[in-house]
Amino acid sequence: MPRSSKDDIMILNRKTWIYILTLAIVLVIFVFFFVFNRPEPYIVKDEIILGTYVRVVVGSDKNPNAIMDSMIREMKRIEKKFSSTIADSIISKINQNGKNITEIDQETRFVIERSLAIADITNGAFDPAMGRIIKLWGFDRISEPDFTPFVPSDGQILQALSHCGYKNIEISKEGIYLKNDVQLDLGAIAKGYAIDRAVQVAKEMDSSCTGYVDAGGDIGIIGPKFGGAKWVVAVKNPRGESSTDFVRYVQIDQGAIVTSGDYERYFEAGGRRYHHIFDPATGKPAEGTISSTIIAQTAMDADALSTAAFVLGPRYSVQIMPSLGGQGFFMDTAEKEYLTDGWSYFDIDEK
Ligand code: AMP
Ligand code: MG
Repeated sequence: MPRSSKDDIMILNRKTWIYILTLAIVLVIFVFFFVFNRPEPYIVKDEIILGTYVRVVVGSDKNPNAIMDSMIREMKRIEKKFSSTIADSIISKINQNGKNITEIDQETRFVIERSLAIADITNGAFDPAMGRIIKLWGFDRISEPDFTPFVPSDGQILQALSHCGYKNIEISKEGIYLKNDVQLDLGAIAKGYAIDRAVQVAKEMDSSCTGYVDAGGDIGIIGPKFGGAKWVVAVKNPRGESSTDFVRYVQIDQGAIVTSGDYERYFEAGGRRYHHIFDPATGKPAEGTISSTIIAQTAMDADALSTAAFVLGPRYSVQIMPSLGGQGFFMDTAEKEYLTDGWSYFDIDEK
C-alpha cells in the first residue's frame, strides 16, 4: 500500500530525532572527555635545598600539593642527614667518632655501601673519603659570605691527601668507623640520593604520578609528561654566557640525568680557576674535563658516576661508563664533545 505523505513526515521526523540524539550523545561524550579526562596541569614549586635551587614538578589527579610537600620534606630530611657541614648529621657524627665505631641505620648503610661500590668500580675516581682535601681547599665553606679563596701548598695537599681514601672506611654489622683519620664527604652522591627518594615518595603516594625533580640541573623523572611523552632535558653549556645557553638536548621518560661541571662551584686565584671536583690521585681539582653528564637508572648512580667520569676524563669515561650503567656526554678543556654509543638513544640532535 502506498505510504501517505503524513507517514513520510513522521519517518523524516524520527530520522531527524535519531540524528539529533546521536549528535547530543557524541557531544556529551566529548564534553565528559575534555572536562574529566583532561591531563592534570602540573604544579611547580621552587625551594633551596642541598645548597641549590630545587624545582619539583608534579602531575597527579590524587593530591599533587600533598605529594609535592612530601617530596620537598624528604629532600630536606636527606640533606640534614647526609650533609657533612651540618653539625648533627650522621656524617658529622661518623667523622667526629673517627676510629670509634658509630652505629648506623639501614638507610645510611645503603648510601655508604653504594658509595663504596662505586668507588671500587671507578678505581677510586669517585671517593667518599676525600673530606680532608675538600676542607683544605675550603669548598665546605665556599657559599659562606666571608669565604676567602686559598690555594694550599703542595706540602699541605700531600699532608691532607695522606688522610684520604675510601679504603679507610670500615663498615660491619656493628656500624662504621674511619681509619687513618679520614673524613667522609658524600657531596658527590647525596643530592642524587635525595632526588631518588623524592621520586620514590611521589610514586608511593600516586603510582600514576608524573613530573620530575630538578636539583640544580640534576634531574630525576617521576613519570612521562602527561602520562606518555618524554621530557626534554637540556645540558648546560659549561662556557655559556647565560643560564639558558645549552649544548645538548635529550629526551627521557624515566631514570635520571646528572651533570658535574667545573663551572658549578669554583673560585679564581692568580688568573686560574679552582673548582670543586678533586682528583683523588693528586688532591687538586681534576684536570682535562669541564663538563660530565650521565644518564642512569637512578640519580644516585648518575651523580656518583658523573663525578667519577669528570675525574677519569672524557677519553676513558666514554669507553667505560656504559659498562658501569651510565650513558654519558663529556667535554674536555678544548670544549671537544664526547658521547658514549648509547647516548644517541636519548639525544634529540643525534636522531
Ligand atoms: P658533584 O657536583 O656531584 O660532582 O660533586 C662534587 C662534590 O663532591 C664536591 O663539592 C665535594 O664535596 C665532593 N667531591 C669532590 N671530589 C670528589 C671525588 N673525587 N669523589 C667524591 N666526591 C668528591
Ligand atoms: Mg656527583
